[in-house]
Amino acid sequence: MHEMGIATEISRIVLEEAERGGGGRVKSISLTIGRWSGVEVETLRFAMEVVAEDTSLAGAELKIEVVEPTFKCAECGKEFIAESRLTPCPECESMAGDMVAGDELAIKEIEVED
Ligand SMILES: [Zn+2]
Repeated sequence: MHEMGIATEISRIVLEEAERGGGGRVKSISLTIGRWSGVEVETLRFAMEVVAEDTSLAGAELKIEVVEPTFKCAECGKEFIAESRLTPCPECESMAGDMVAGDELAIKEIEVED
């Protein structure tokens, strides 16, 4: 399960940030995860709990926002949520779209106690 490696990397970054912010306990971590990022949200939650144990991340609330796969039509510029890469633009039915969101994995916000 590659979520373990991801959780380790996230907690490393969060701990560094918390350290820079004065080293307080981390209250919450907000993540944005694309539906197509290949990350299982529940598995990542579990992995984060394991990794956070015995660090100042233990007990931090994990807020996860799942981002649906979003494409921008190359023809008319409409943004739409797609079921697959073969979903045509709902506006002009063009098949040429660029993915603009939905495969990301990002730390959006970290809340540290004063
Ligand atoms: Zn279009």
